[in-house]
Amino acid sequence: MARKMGFYAVLAYVLYGFLVYWYLFYLADTSLPFEYQGSKADPATFMDGRELMLSEEYSKVRNLLFFLSAPLEWLIYFLILLTGLSKAFKKWGKDTTKNKYGRVAIYVIWLSFFSYLATFPLSYISYNLSRTYNISTQSFASWMKDELIDFWINYGMMLVIVAVLYLLIKKSRRFWWLFAWLLSVPFTLFIMFVQPILIDPLYNDFYPLKDKELETKILELANRAEIPSEHVFEVNMAEKTNALNAYVTGIGSNSRIVLWDTTLNRLNDDQILFIMAHEMAHYVEKHLYIGIAGYLLLSLVGLYLTARLMNWLISRWGNEFKIKDPGDLASLPLFLMILSMLAFASSPLSNFVSRYQEARADRYAIEMTDNPEAAITSFQELSKAGLSQVNPPLLVKIFRYGHPTMLERISRLEEYEVKKRNNDS
Ligand SMILES: [Zn+2]
Repeated sequence: MARKMGFYAVLAYVLYGFLVYWYLFYLADTSLPFEYQGSKADPATFMDGRELMLSEEYSKVRNLLFFLSAPLEWLIYFLILLTGLSKAFKKWGKDTTKNKYGRVAIYVIWLSFFSYLATFPLSYISYNLSRTYNISTQSFASWMKDELIDFWINYGMMLVIVAVLYLLIKKSRRFWWLFAWLLSVPFTLFIMFVQPILIDPLYNDFYPLKDKELETKILELANRAEIPSEHVFEVNMAEKTNALNAYVTGIGSNSRIVLWDTTLNRLNDDQILFIMAHEMAHYVEKHLYIGIAGYLLLSLVGLYLTARLMNWLISRWGNEFKIKDPGDLASLPLFLMILSMLAFASSPLSNFVSRYQEARADRYAIEMTDNPEAAITSFQELSKAGLSQVNPPLLVKIFRYGHPTMLERISRLEEYEVKKRNNDS
């Protein structure tokens, strides 16, 4: 039975892959609606022929990789259960040490290592693709270093979470999901708090803006938005990527706005000020806090559903999964699989909320800077630098886009520009 289930799971994954491929490469229409042709949102007006072709190609493959990666993770966890590997990892822990936590540490290292290896080809293809299209400029060694940092940070966090989680499941079969959630609240807030000062610097260098003249202009803007000046940082990304970005991160006294140096190198001051004003809107309107609250709410529902689903799946297919009950450490792949599925299923909702916040930030920024020309050209540069699709397929937008599409963003700015011109004259 386990063999048959494994076979069907692989088959389903392959079929799904073909279906997604067909959708992205043949079915979905990404051409611009007639009314936008020739407008400032039309990539033909700001990209050359080569960039246009490359952006279509690159985005299609990127989208395919995106849709393949989460289900691949589910498939791997599923197979780890069916093949008895999870049980074996547990046994290896038992054979090595008598210490309860030592056993958890060994189990988790095997599970992490194995899943990392199994998903490595896809991550490598993704890195390589981005190098081929000259988005990433990162050497393999530097990329691998980031991957290793990722691996160990994830391992450390997973270890803490798993040790506590299985203790809770053993203590309370009925309400472990609620206790786990209650503990996850301070844990999440703590991670958000230390992220900009402890975790992010492991990957890149952060420092105050180098361009002092620009800094003065930005601080003037920050002053108007009532943001304390010591919260603006620059990060060296030029050695890793050609893409442009800026973001808000951290909570409380560690909250900050970070600008990639690539953005500073490629855009002029007015364009940068528009991007900054957009980030300031997130800061001022506390989008990060709303995001955290939403995430915590979703995770409460998610943990409850996971508990219910785990009980049901184990009572139905416990034999095939080689787990007797949810308190068994060997059930971890099942827990991770269900959680990852629920996260994927809920991503359209979180993306929708995020797109709403992003649209608000755009509006705030254009009203604050009142320079539509700079705003529009900054988005055009952003699309060019990242070879991004201006008008992605609907499913890509729903599952992948935390920002409105560039078609939507630029055309809204264009509307503002027209209104402004009418008001001025
Ligand atoms: Zn934003």
